[in-house]
Amino acid sequence: MTAIADRHTVPSPASALVCRNCGAEYPLGPQHACFECFGPLEIGYDADALARITREDIEAGPHSLWRYAGLLPVGHDSATRVESGTGMTPLIRADRLADELGFTAPLWIKDDSANPTHSFKDRVVSVAITAARELGFSRIACASTGNLANSVAAHAARIGMPSIVFVPADLEPAKIIQTAIYGGTLVGIEGSYDDVNRLCSQLSEEDEFESTGFVNVNIRPYYAEGSKTLGYEVAEQLGWRVPGQYLAPMASGSMLTKINKAFKELVGAGLVPSSSWKVYGAQSAGCSPIATAFAAGSSDVVPVKPTGIAKSLNIGNPADGPYALDAVRASGGAIAAVDDDEIREGIRLLARTTGMFAETAGGVTVAVLRKLVEAGQLDTSVETVLYNTGDGLKTIDAVSSGAHPTAVIPPTLKGMRDAGLL
Ligand SMILES: *Cc1c(COP(=O)(O)O)cnc(C)c1O
Ligand SMILES: [Zn+2]
Repeated sequence: MTAIADRHTVPSPASALVCRNCGAEYPLGPQHACFECFGPLEIGYDADALARITREDIEAGPHSLWRYAGLLPVGHDSATRVESGTGMTPLIRADRLADELGFTAPLWIKDDSANPTHSFKDRVVSVAITAARELGFSRIACASTGNLANSVAAHAARIGMPSIVFVPADLEPAKIIQTAIYGGTLVGIEGSYDDVNRLCSQLSEEDEFESTGFVNVNIRPYYAEGSKTLGYEVAEQLGWRVPGQYLAPMASGSMLTKINKAFKELVGAGLVPSSSWKVYGAQSAGCSPIATAFAAGSSDVVPVKPTGIAKSLNIGNPADGPYALDAVRASGGAIAAVDDDEIREGIRLLARTTGMFAETAGGVTVAVLRKLVEAGQLDTSVETVLYNTGDGLKTIDAVSSGAHPTAVIPPTLKGMRDAGLL
């Protein structure tokens, strides 16, 4: 809770909801689709307002994603912000991983497993639940592949807002438990994420759900902006500049596009020197509709039925797929997919070279990095940032069969000798 004496405000730079498809504009509010063309809406900003923000303003802010409130659509009054301590996660030089992959330029990992509920979703939820509160909703809801469920239930518990969370019933046990523990309503759906999402869209139209904000349905334009802080933070942590390239995992594709949006805003606002960067995307072979479209040179993202261990990325009909393709192609980057064995190997490679234990989404990203390097599609002489978006303890089953004690011995020197360790 923010004490009244600490209360401070920043001006809001958000000006409208803008259709990403046809450019039509609407007043800010809980609307997510264009009335003209049904295209998705996103938050539009007043460029002059953004340009007035200084590095000093940001650096003087809290040690959380709310230091960027002046670049976000909500949370301008610190009294309405939902502060969970999200953001300002470590940006770590991965020199041993860089050596192993043959990098000559620095390779950095943005370790977003260090957020309160151990995934990057705390960013989008901090912004979405603050939006829900500012827009007057009295309950918060979401459709989730797991991490969003954890984060929505936790943030709701923190402020005492009722929550109702919908997930595929066959999620990893850790993600079910880590949602249920916070005490909200948790509904397991017998179906895929895409089924869950469809049900939530229907529910959001029902009278009984009129005062419920679905973070990734009716307030999705606000929710999505939270991912921009992954771009702002990396730029600030690098000493106010944009890296030459970044690699991010994709489920709906939203996060990848918002990091790109963040870098563009920073350049536009004069907060970093102007530069160009390449955007790289990672998917799992069990659910790779965006990677498949990329390989085919197509802008048509054909929905798939997801399989495989990277459940947090298992969105078969990715809402931001076409925008992710645009961002990657316009930058000269690439997208690749890796299978479950490569994902497990990616988790191990990251762990043994950096001391970081990633969930399957991180394994996807590291394995794709290796694949792109080996294929000559990613230049190892360019400074690179890789986004690790979730904690390995959330998906322990994925690697448990290959992770055992070296030996189990009696507590004696003889025991050590017999095991060949002395
Ligand atoms: C949700 C999620 C992503 C990416 O989500 P988008 O839908 O592409 O924005 C990446 N990693 C993890 C661990 C996630 O939970
Ligand atoms: Zn439109």
